[in-house]
Amino acid sequence: MSRKLKGIAAAPGIAIAPLVHFHGTLDSIPTWKVAPEGVASEGRRLDEAVAEVGRSILALRKELADALSNHDVRIYDAQVSILHDPTFRADVVREVEQQGCNLEVALQRVVARYEAVFQNMADASMRERAADVRDVGRQLVAALMAKDRSKYTANGRDYLFAADEFLPSDAGILDRKHLRGIVTAHGGKYSHGAILARSLGIPAVVGVDDVMSKASSGTTVVLDGDSGQVVIDPAPDELAHYQQRLLEQKSVDLRVAEVRFQPAVTLDGSEVSLYANVEGVRDLEKLETDAIAGIGLFRTEFAFMERRQFPTEEEQVAMYRRAMQGSRGKPVTFRTLDVGGDKPLGYFRTPEERNPVLGWRGLRLCLDWPDILYTQLRAILRASALGHARILLPMVTTRSEVVRCRQVLDQILEDLRSSGVPFDPKIELGIMVEIPVIVPVLPEILPLVDFVSVGTNDLVQYLLAVDRDNQRVAKMYDPFHPGVLRVLHQIVRAANAAKKPVSICGEIAGDHHFTPILLGMGYRELSMAPVFVPRVKLTLRSFSVDECRTLASTAIALESTTAVRKLVGEEVRDRWARFLQAAPGDAAT
Ligand code: PEP
Ligand code: MG
Repeated sequence: MSRKLKGIAAAPGIAIAPLVHFHGTLDSIPTWKVAPEGVASEGRRLDEAVAEVGRSILALRKELADALSNHDVRIYDAQVSILHDPTFRADVVREVEQQGCNLEVALQRVVARYEAVFQNMADASMRERAADVRDVGRQLVAALMAKDRSKYTANGRDYLFAADEFLPSDAGILDRKHLRGIVTAHGGKYSHGAILARSLGIPAVVGVDDVMSKASSGTTVVLDGDSGQVVIDPAPDELAHYQQRLLEQKSVDLRVAEVRFQPAVTLDGSEVSLYANVEGVRDLEKLETDAIAGIGLFRTEFAFMERRQFPTEEEQVAMYRRAMQGSRGKPVTFRTLDVGGDKPLGYFRTPEERNPVLGWRGLRLCLDWPDILYTQLRAILRASALGHARILLPMVTTRSEVVRCRQVLDQILEDLRSSGVPFDPKIELGIMVEIPVIVPVLPEILPLVDFVSVGTNDLVQYLLAVDRDNQRVAKMYDPFHPGVLRVLHQIVRAANAAKKPVSICGEIAGDHHFTPILLGMGYRELSMAPVFVPRVKLTLRSFSVDECRTLASTAIALESTTAVRKLVGEEVRDRWARFLQAAPGDAAT
């Protein structure tokens, strides 16, 4: 009999296949006593295992480098640094020495202690390191036990991966050709496993508590990575329904390629600008710039986080210039340093905070350390001579913050001018709208800025009082809440009234179910991870602006998130079905 479980939709798409249980190797390990004279040899075994695991992580990193963004690839760098951390090695060897236990046991214990420390940290990204330590420990034990970490193949048949969690090293041992989907008992939408699944285009549902006990290996399971639904042993009619959706998905994936380079215009010819979000210059190198209007969000903080100290002005100028060259004349929107909260800067120690997401982050931090802001703005301005650069300020809370930034910018313009350094004197300054209180005061702030960009990831978290990285409340993090829609509507109306360009650069901009609602409200600029551009383009090309307006005003007036999702889900599905029925090439007309 069919059973349904609900989890967190982590990576979009439908998957149907037999489930295969996966177990880590850290649980069942051999145990023996080690005498004091045996400690050194355990240390050597550890070094050999570290070298082996290090090689395999780097090989995997290389293998996935083209498929993953610059930011996502760093997941593997974090693992390498844990692996080579001298404190970690010393702790493991000390455990062997003091407890007289073998290396495998020592690793199991030290990893458990590290995990507990990371898990108790307030910072979500530090909590995520618990999974990295676990993954590194698991790989070391597997190397020590000479366990076969070669590719898992499911005998060459399609399968769904089921485990407590999907760890970064799993991407290396799974037969990805036949891997249809991922379902895990733990993990959140922003866990490393979920990020990887999205980047690799594998549908995933995470946080499904009972999945391993309710569905044994071999059971047919349907996984809906758009809604978080997991159907075990589906009834024939359910199976037929999902098979139909899967078919649609497959043909869409094939046909989407057609739409990629077509103009981003609605059915009635209204132009929409689709921009890309990038996290570093390397992302830009992989970008198909012909498919987009420019870079709507360059998250500069990742370049700062990758380093051991603040980049100098010269280093920043070189990076921003490379970005300008990579965009091939299209605008690049550099967001100033947005660290703090879930993005700590290792070399810039900030005091422990009870609520880092409500704390010293983004622009707040930069205004308290004006040197950081000054150097970054100066570097962006110097690079601006090469093309069309824009400056975007994150986490703006008050008008006075914008005034202060303008003053800093004016001072730099003056300095550069007097020393004859070239720059774009018309460089635009914009703000992120991501702190709710800024919305009602937008009419007073808009005259001070050239554009606004709505950061819905944070805006939604603050509006709903739901931590975007907390698995326990993840199901409540829903941007389709009619209250959120009303706020988004208020923002676009304020910007249009002030004749200031407005874009959305949070995740919803890349969710094609949101596209008609956003267009209907009046948004004409959307910035998203490049992987979502084709789907959004396809969707907007299948609606007229009038249809979007009707849909948006109906959605805004609805009473529940479920009702909004149902309404837009049906509308978008209907358009996609029509698109798919049309002959290839018709989408262009
Ligand atoms: C946002 O908050 O929506 C946003 C785009 O910024 P980030 O996700 O980097 O906080
Ligand atoms: Mg943000």
